[in-house]
Amino acid sequence: MEGRWAMIKCECGRYFGSSSKNVGGCPRCGSDKNLKIMKKYSSSKSLRDDISKANTPPEIENEISVRFEKYDSKIRKRDNVSADIIQKIIKTSTTDENIITIDSISNSISKLALSKITAEDIIEILEASSLVLRNSNGSWTVLQ
Ligand SMILES: [Zn+2]
Repeated sequence: MEGRWAMIKCECGRYFGSSSKNVGGCPRCGSDKNLKIMKKYSSSKSLRDDISKANTPPEIENEISVRFEKYDSKIRKRDNVSADIIQKIIKTSTTDENIITIDSISNSISKLALSKITAEDIIEILEASSLVLRNSNGSWTVLQ
């Protein structure tokens, strides 16, 4: 499993994490051209740590809210769920190894007493916003 994860640098200056086999677009500018693989990792935790260091923390925070905002309006219309709720769900359902599963998300949803959104909806949103990567065993790794 060596080098499964990669730290990518976009031409816009943003560093982001990706699967090394399947590099997606830049989460900041959406570009999928001129992306450079800076380093490969066997552990998603070291990848995450390096990305946090490479990008300044205020920028990451800001970016997460921007990414959620894109989905927020759609979700709000459909389910009346805000970006805040999604961030709470991530916080409460992610393990120390940065793993989330449908079960852990379902637990958070019931703890937060949400009824209109399913764990599958949450995963769909997280995958679409490049915050998680699907693992082969049915779990997801949270990148940020
Ligand atoms: Zn970019």
